[in-house]
Amino acid sequence: MGFKLDLHVHTESFGRVYMDEKSLEVALRIRGLDGIAVTNFANISHAFWLRKKLPQFLIIVGQEIWSSKGHIGALGITRKIADFLSPKETIRQIHDQGGLAVAVHPFLPMGIGELAYELPVDLVESYNGMIGAAFFFNLLAGFKAWSSKRVSVSSSDTTALDFIGQSRIEVLTDDTKDVLSAIQSGKLLLTKRALPVPFGFILRNFLGARNLPPCRLHAAPCFLCGNSMAVKILKRKVSCIDCHREEFSRISCSEGHFFCIACVLRRISEADDKVNISAISAYHGTY
Ligand SMILES: [Zn+2]
Ligand SMILES: [Zn+2]
Ligand SMILES: [Zn+2]
Ligand SMILES: [Zn+2]
Repeated sequence: MGFKLDLHVHTESFGRVYMDEKSLEVALRIRGLDGIAVTNFANISHAFWLRKKLPQFLIIVGQEIWSSKGHIGALGITRKIADFLSPKETIRQIHDQGGLAVAVHPFLPMGIGELAYELPVDLVESYNGMIGAAFFFNLLAGFKAWSSKRVSVSSSDTTALDFIGQSRIEVLTDDTKDVLSAIQSGKLLLTKRALPVPFGFILRNFLGARNLPPCRLHAAPCFLCGNSMAVKILKRKVSCIDCHREEFSRISCSEGHFFCIACVLRRISEADDKVNISAISAYHGTY
């Protein structure tokens, strides 16, 4: 018997909950999963909440960290790790907590690239289900992991309940306590299936649609008006609503609101810090 797990799931994004304990429990059963790693940005309280509410499943507390050179996943941590540290320092802090460091989607622009194979990361996400049509990024990550003898994992990287476990691993151990070390030593079977590319969402994004439903990729509603953050065809000069810093970006909501990534993560993190899991009876969006 092994454990079927999706190691890269966003249950919360931009302060909104996309998978509460009830819907997640149903989805885990339907998808035949034994658990997930909850890897939200700047939010760790929802992972602790889900672990408390779903003791019959293996809920690994994790985080997706925005290091100075790209995203790094952490699995099996107990304290939130700061964003924008160097990859080396981020990995050191993950290991200090006894966690595993994952080079998630290393060759996407948001990944850490070649550093995945130079720094002491434990796992390379050589198959990211969200990448879908841009499969070349996965092929390159997988080939480099194989040639450098790194342990590969596959995961979904989704906020959508329908797609958890679409890509997943099976850990070949019987012992719950042994799961992280079995993952680290590569006792794994990988299931690799791409998430469907949300063409409709992308097209409507470029056309400036309003009030889009959450994207199946990284759901990102605007803090100010709640409309989805959208990708525009051309970069243009925008000013962050919080810090007023100007930059060139493709991203803003359909009303034109823009938040720089530092302010986004700070807002989420500050809201997360206020949540006291043992004192609440229901977890709502933190923001
Ligand atoms: Zn990422
Ligand atoms: Zn992610
Ligand atoms: Zn807005
Ligand atoms: Zn800002």
